[in-house]
Amino acid sequence: MPGVQDRVALVTGGGQGIGEGIAHRLAAGGAKVGVLDLNLDNATTVAEAIKAEGGQAIALSADVSKRDQVQAAVDQLVGEFGGLHILVNNAGVIRDNLLFKMTDEDWTLVMEVHLRGAFLCSQIAQKHMGDAGFGRIISMSSTSATGNRGQANYSTAKMGLQGFTKTLAIELGPRGITANAIAPGFIETAMTKATAERIGTTIDQMRDAVASTVPVRRGGVPADIANAVAFFAAEESGYVTGQVLYVDGGSELL
Ligand code: NAD
Repeated sequence: MPGVQDRVALVTGGGQGIGEGIAHRLAAGGAKVGVLDLNLDNATTVAEAIKAEGGQAIALSADVSKRDQVQAAVDQLVGEFGGLHILVNNAGVIRDNLLFKMTDEDWTLVMEVHLRGAFLCSQIAQKHMGDAGFGRIISMSSTSATGNRGQANYSTAKMGLQGFTKTLAIELGPRGITANAIAPGFIETAMTKATAERIGTTIDQMRDAVASTVPVRRGGVPADIANAVAFFAAEESGYVTGQVLYVDGGSELL
């Protein structure tokens, strides 16, 4: 099965959390991975760990909301590995607040990173994918897309990514490029730890609360999302496009 073997992948926000798990999973499947992050030290640590496991990876430093930085990172990746076939738009931030307290900066930063970031990375990456006649664009939405208290900015951005994904699927399909989104539920990372602190609880309590309600009776981990990414990224998944896959232990059913 070809899967992602010998493909070149770019994982944004790959320096920790879900992106780190995705980078490891794609590398284990034989992909050459660009681990892109605002935090180059973290990206380097992840790339080095992949290489220590026998995989191929390079660390890339960029702010996904800055066109010149994304272009330079993609140029570096293509220069190193000779192409770009798989893009995972995973970089993200939260600036949670109730609507009446949300600042312009809270709103703008979340839109810039999630929406402009996915736009710039996809636009720059699709040229290389089109040249190869093969591409996979996978964007990280969220169960929060359907609404979540304190996340007017984030919910809007995450639902925006679903519309973005469906439009890319229509536009890029004829060039061999699929576009899909994943909507994770609770996944234990630095981001969910920060959310727990904001609402005055702990990550352990948050995980227990999720585990006591979701149908599969556990919290999610980055490997759960990496598994879904590996499915969408695989060569065999070429007839799957424009989809949003909720990977949430069934929480959307409740
Ligand atoms: P995280 O905070 O642990 O990691 C996010 C990474 O993105 C960090 O390494 C950070 O440095 C990087 N990043 C932030 N802004 C950036 C920028 N402008 N340019 C480049 N890199 C940048 O978060 P996570 O939990 O691993 O989340 C990953 C993605 O999954 C995000 O898009 C998030 O919204 C989404 N998500 C997470 C959960 C969850 O429960 N953890 C649920 C649903 C969706």
